[in-house]
Amino acid sequence: MKIFLVNAGSSSLKYQLFDMDDESVIAKGNCERIGMEDSFLKHKTADGRELRYDEAMPNHFAAIKLVFKALTSEKVGVIESMEEIDAVGHRVLHGGDKFSESVLITPEVEKAIEETIPLGPLHNPANLMGIRACRDIMPHKPQVAVFDTAFHQSIPKKAYLYALPYEYYEKYKIRRYGFHGSSHRYVSARAAEILGRVGDPDFKVITCHLGNGSSFAAVKGGVCVDTSMGLTPLEGIPMGTRSGSLDPAVIEFIMSHENIDINEMTEILNKKSGVLGISGISSDFRDLAKAYENGDDQAKLALEIFNYNGTKLIGSYAAAMGGVDAIVFTAGIGENDSFVREQMCAPLEFLGIKLNVELNEKVRGKEVDLSAPDSKVKVLLIPTNEELVIARDTKEIVSKM
Ligand code: AMP
Repeated sequence: MKIFLVNAGSSSLKYQLFDMDDESVIAKGNCERIGMEDSFLKHKTADGRELRYDEAMPNHFAAIKLVFKALTSEKVGVIESMEEIDAVGHRVLHGGDKFSESVLITPEVEKAIEETIPLGPLHNPANLMGIRACRDIMPHKPQVAVFDTAFHQSIPKKAYLYALPYEYYEKYKIRRYGFHGSSHRYVSARAAEILGRVGDPDFKVITCHLGNGSSFAAVKGGVCVDTSMGLTPLEGIPMGTRSGSLDPAVIEFIMSHENIDINEMTEILNKKSGVLGISGISSDFRDLAKAYENGDDQAKLALEIFNYNGTKLIGSYAAAMGGVDAIVFTAGIGENDSFVREQMCAPLEFLGIKLNVELNEKVRGKEVDLSAPDSKVKVLLIPTNEELVIARDTKEIVSKM
């Protein structure tokens, strides 16, 4: 079975073609600058063939058409025609409280994704454009939506409600939703497999997805019970450019003292804060590490704030679950940055969390048990694979049709 995966942004579209017989990626690529001048597509096959098309892509429909030109081309093609594709899987950011699992896309589902636009104003319209473009080009192929929020729908009300007048929850569904759900689901399930705890209702794992956006999840018996991102991906630990949680009164204070409007404030909170805001150097942890090594105090402080907040979240989730059996590090920073892993875990020895420091320094980007032999809690590095989650869900849903 061949499954085509689409992750559509407002001006970009990433794709992968999976062969689900062995769960391998046959080809992948991305379209950039859709709807703008100088749009281009970059395509790469599993056997190392590459291509770049510098062609106009006025919309997502044109982008998908160009993707199929690449997928079926003589030089870098991997299929004869789009008929070889069995189904399409879409990454959709926000499913609101309507979707607790992946679903076959029907007109009702499309409508529900549309109704959730107020909660995901940047991503859901783009996701819908991807869905509609694929539907127009492949009207007979089943399409599946996999939501970033779905895995967190099991969180109890005491963990997802904000202490605001209840009417705002009732009227606008303002609550914690959480994101990176496919990633937390994948790595928590892998942790259970690695540690022989699949199906154990008492298996407690804290998953740390540390990337450009960072989020934590507390997962008990395979069920998510809490997560750090909220109504939007702005809440939680400070991130590359996002502030993470702060006293809400800070917003009004800065707006009135700087004489700026809410749009500028939102831009500051999303794009100019986090470790970039603190360091004034970069949102990329590789740049921060270099600056730290060169004695830059602000880079040091940014890393300290990031690691300290991570430690606090892990501690609070251990408390929320009444213990913890495993911690998982994943995503760009979690998979590559041994310093962050070490600093986040170091204060947690009192919980029985002890890293194998030497091994931790050596490894990156592969599945490894990083815990010291006498650590009560397992510390695992598990590279995430959100795309595989989407491909597997799509396969499962279309197989039942
Ligand atoms: P992601 O959003 O999962 O793609 O993560 C991207 C982020 O991971 C980058 O912005 C970097 O901060 C971080 N990252 C990637 N590679 C490394 C590395 N080798 N060392 C430290 N951080 C890294």
